[in-house]
Amino acid sequence: MGTIVCQICNGTIDHFEDEKVSVLYALCNHCDCKEEEVVEI
Ligand SMILES: [Zn+2]
Repeated sequence: MGTIVCQICNGTIDHFEDEKVSVLYALCNHCDCKEEEVVEI
């Protein structure tokens, strides 16, 4: 299972189906977070 994590506050945003365990970094809806650019790792 994959997990989407906020790259600013490290909060778990969502999960998605994946054969392997992986993490995507995105931004949650916190006002401090959504100003930053999204980076996929
Ligand atoms: Zn956040």
